[in-house]
Amino acid sequence: MDNRGVGKAEMFRYNTLLRKEFTFVEDLNSHACQTAVERVLKAVNRFYANCNNKVPGKKGYPRFKKNTRSLEYKFSGWKLSDDRKYISFTDKKGIGTFKLIGSRDLNFYQLNQIKRVRIVRRADGYYVQFCVQLDPRDTVKPLTPSQKAVGIDVGIKYFLADSQGNIEHNPQFYREGEKQLNRLNRKKSQKFSPGKLQSQNYHKARIRYARKHLKISRQREEFVKKVALRLIQSNDLVAYENLNVKGMVKNRHLAKSIFDAGWSLFRGWLDYFGYKYGKLTIAVAPHNTSQNCSNCGEKVQKSLSTRTHICNHCGYTEDRDINAAINILQKGLSTVGQTESYKLGEIEPLAGLEKSCSVKSCR
Ligand SMILES: [Zn+2]
Repeated sequence: MDNRGVGKAEMFRYNTLLRKEFTFVEDLNSHACQTAVERVLKAVNRFYANCNNKVPGKKGYPRFKKNTRSLEYKFSGWKLSDDRKYISFTDKKGIGTFKLIGSRDLNFYQLNQIKRVRIVRRADGYYVQFCVQLDPRDTVKPLTPSQKAVGIDVGIKYFLADSQGNIEHNPQFYREGEKQLNRLNRKKSQKFSPGKLQSQNYHKARIRYARKHLKISRQREEFVKKVALRLIQSNDLVAYENLNVKGMVKNRHLAKSIFDAGWSLFRGWLDYFGYKYGKLTIAVAPHNTSQNCSNCGEKVQKSLSTRTHICNHCGYTEDRDINAAINILQKGLSTVGQTESYKLGEIEPLAGLEKSCSVKSCR
């Protein structure tokens, strides 16, 4: 913050200086200190990139962390037992040896595939994350083409509606759990004593509240994962709207439902599964997808509360969200055609007659 233009090399050098100065840093594995520096750099660079790219919304210089909940090792500082069921941390922090529980078998990977090991603290305990370098495509057989394409419209009333006429209802874990969350939050505040060291009972209440949040976030992630996987397995192409979720959450009336639905989480999993199983996922620009008629293309203005699309040009009637999903699919399909030819380098869109002629003669 004081010296602008300081880069990675200077930061690493400063890190070495700090190690000499403070024993608590010296005790920690040197690579773990390096990753801490990398994290800081990443945050600072993101801030500058956001400013340069004029990303909308508030931007601020990264803030200092009071409590760090995770720590990242590279290749040293940890050791797996021969059967890879136990992990020991070998720096001077005295963390010790732990049994690994969980469904993944580490014997499935080569040791040199493990690029990072993280210790993460969550509300219900400590976790070890192994960052394994591999292409998810190598772990599965490509699926047989389903010969289907689908457009999806995510909504407030449903989680999503697709162009094939299916509707996935919103589970609304957050709203169901909201009563319990509010109760736990109230309990927590009752136990809070201002200006004093907090009591054991306060911390107990705080942890109960945090665990409930954790549980709901896990339920949400499991749900979106399931829906995303199903869509990818039963279609070859999935087109969705490229929504600005960050901007939409600012709308107070919609915020809770959008947050609850976990849209951006869903998108992430959809792209991941699409890549893994060799299917196409396309984000299309979200303009007029709910207003236009998917049958004749005419614009039919309707407010958010109008649930059915009735076209006064061609008489086509369909559920509002399904009509939008069909429009999204149409948009998606037309985008694919363009990008594919772009990639092949055969024609440039908007290129003049002269260019396309020269391409032909090359063949
Ligand atoms: Zn129409």
